[in-house]
Amino acid sequence: MRDFVYNTQAARVIFGAGSLQYLEREIALLGAQRALILCTPEQQGLAEQIATILGARTAGIYPKAVMHVPAEIAAAAVAEAARLGADCAVAVGGGSTTGLGKAIALQSGLAILAIPTTYAGSEMTPIYGITEAGLKKTGRDPRVLPRTVIYDPELSVSLPVGLSVTSAMNAMAHAAEGLYAQDSNPIMDLMAEEGIRALALEIPKFRVNPADISARSNALYGAWLCGTVLGNVGMALHHKLCHTLGGTFNLPHAEVHTVILPHAMAFNAPAAPQAMQKISRALGGVPAAQGFYDLARQNGAPVSLRELGLKAEALDAIVQLALQNPYWNPRPIVPENSGALRNLLQQAWEGVSPVTSM
Ligand code: NAD
Repeated sequence: MRDFVYNTQAARVIFGAGSLQYLEREIALLGAQRALILCTPEQQGLAEQIATILGARTAGIYPKAVMHVPAEIAAAAVAEAARLGADCAVAVGGGSTTGLGKAIALQSGLAILAIPTTYAGSEMTPIYGITEAGLKKTGRDPRVLPRTVIYDPELSVSLPVGLSVTSAMNAMAHAAEGLYAQDSNPIMDLMAEEGIRALALEIPKFRVNPADISARSNALYGAWLCGTVLGNVGMALHHKLCHTLGGTFNLPHAEVHTVILPHAMAFNAPAAPQAMQKISRALGGVPAAQGFYDLARQNGAPVSLRELGLKAEALDAIVQLALQNPYWNPRPIVPENSGALRNLLQQAWEGVSPVTSM
């Protein structure tokens, strides 16, 4: 057994189909009276249902959450919360809405209750991001961690199938990198392997029947585990590449994670054999990189950067960006490995099966 430090985040989790019914009780347990409900414009109908459930405890709805949390939207939401006399915020939606809740918590200290409707996992992390003048600043602050999380799988049934698959792959990427994190520990390893196992098993089921509540429930459980790993240990090459592709080249978040994951695993496989063994076990015995690739491809998800709209000419620049302020990685991100990194990106761009390049 290796030495480790185990330091977990506190959050109350309510899990189960129909658990939205406990929302008012949970708001009361936070000691709050008036909730500002946050959502994207697309999910305003759901926010209105929630406002009805909360009745007099609803302060208002702020339906302006968008990807990457623009600072002006966060500032306007803080002002709206103050104007309406809100003493907590309910973030219902995916990572973009949770992100808005976190920005509000950072600026105002308001308690956040999150109701995730994708598998992105932001609700379990103290990591925030705010975009100002085109630049996304990220940081860690315990104040932004939602105080309560209600996981109701019934709310993920409406998530379009394509996004459901890529969002699940996004979740598995947190767990996969958690398994070789420098600061990992045996509890996170258990969560990571179980999270990958649960999601890999359920993707084909909800893809065939998006309303399969048992599949949605098990998948959301997997997403919770993977999000917990993301919140507790450091991420590496895969997340670095995805941040670059999302931030600088504006490619869609969950899809980018889906495409890069197999290739990041192939790159890291020689340096992280134990992690790869656990991922392989969770995927039913296939090698980690190939297992993720097959899962994406067989379930209709994108497998190439080309189909996400990236131009081949951008690949050299991405290698250079990855080498600047590199994250810790089991296989170092150093100029000596730039050829292998370039090959990784070429394979990901073409969408071919992942092969380790030395
Ligand atoms: P998202 O929140 O942007 O949602 C994508 C779209 O799907 C939105 O239009 C949303 O309204 C819609 N949607 C969500 N759930 C739905 C449902 N059940 N039914 C119908 N439509 C639904 O996407 P995401 O992938 O969840 O989040 C991505 C963002 O979250 C990125 O900005 C990423 O950086 C951030 N993120 C942050 C962390 C963190 O720890 N800070 C972790 C993961 C992701």
